[in-house]
Amino acid sequence: MITFYPGPSKVYPQIATYLQEAVTSGILSQNHRSAPFMEMLEKCISEFKFKLNIPEDYEVFFTSSATECWEIISQSFTINHSHHIYNGAFGQKWHEYASRIVKQTTKQSFDFQSLAANNFIPRDADVICITQNETSNATQISNEFLKSLKAEAVIAVDVTSSLGGIELEWQNGDIWLASVQKCLGLPAGMGLIICSPKAIKRAKEIGDKKYYNSLLFIRENFKKLQTHYTPNILGIFLLHRVMQQVNNTSLVNQQIQARAQDFYNFIEEETKLKLLVKNDSVRSSTVIAIEGSNSEISSIKEKAKENNIILGNGYGQWKDTTFRIANFPAIENWEFDKLKALLRQ
Ligand SMILES: *Cc1c(COP(=O)(O)O)cnc(C)c1O
Repeated sequence: MITFYPGPSKVYPQIATYLQEAVTSGILSQNHRSAPFMEMLEKCISEFKFKLNIPEDYEVFFTSSATECWEIISQSFTINHSHHIYNGAFGQKWHEYASRIVKQTTKQSFDFQSLAANNFIPRDADVICITQNETSNATQISNEFLKSLKAEAVIAVDVTSSLGGIELEWQNGDIWLASVQKCLGLPAGMGLIICSPKAIKRAKEIGDKKYYNSLLFIRENFKKLQTHYTPNILGIFLLHRVMQQVNNTSLVNQQIQARAQDFYNFIEEETKLKLLVKNDSVRSSTVIAIEGSNSEISSIKEKAKENNIILGNGYGQWKDTTFRIANFPAIENWEFDKLKALLRQ
């Protein structure tokens, strides 16, 4: 089976070996306050920061999901007002989750064929929330846009479907969140949140410790190389092993950008299909949406199924007229060649 589903997505094939290793090493049967666990947690975070070029003074914490991170941002980093800039379903959902927790939320939605605009940000917004890679419509926000937001506010960025695939400019954001089952190529069940010193300072000013997942409470435990609840030990083990295996994100970024460009060209030049995103400056490098008539799309899906290839369904309103392709690093070039052969037919 080959899968291009954008989440949960293909896991690195090496996961099979790592799973076996996790069992035989005994780590899965160890207490999460034991020395072997603490050592593994420390190594995992340091390898993760090293491979992704995360600045020394940024802190990494593990959670259960990206959705949980949205709530943590509302609970622990937002004073009164969070402002949401988005063009698709995940950005919208984030705004909805925040609205249930935060006193005031504002939203600024923009057309997914256009560049995001930064000129409507309320002055009193204390957190600005942006979905960097909108998995639902296959668009992305550029590093330049994030940079243009320089503000008093804390900038929170959802990179669930791009972290591990593209190079991010960490100084342009204060809180970065993701889960592991997309671009990181791991089994589902863990999220992560990366915080700048400015974000930590904000969390201290707010002082939220009301919830089991209040950031300060999580941090107190991580400082001791522990966690506030029994964590996903297997998930942390696998992340550590995968981080040891992958190339530095700068190199991965080059490969992912090149493969995205190649596939975009292929669709336009060698098939009758179209790209959902017409504006090439907002197209995602890690999730690609391809458009066709109802009958074209259903016949491609049928053919794919016969060939044991799983395509990502179109999202929401595009369910029947598009399909999505994950361009995540765990997917190999020979798999893209098979997909191309199928789409050429
Ligand atoms: C998948 C996804 C989420 C939700 O991730 P969970 O791990 O299911 O909580 C959030 N944001 C984006 C952009 C996503 O693609």
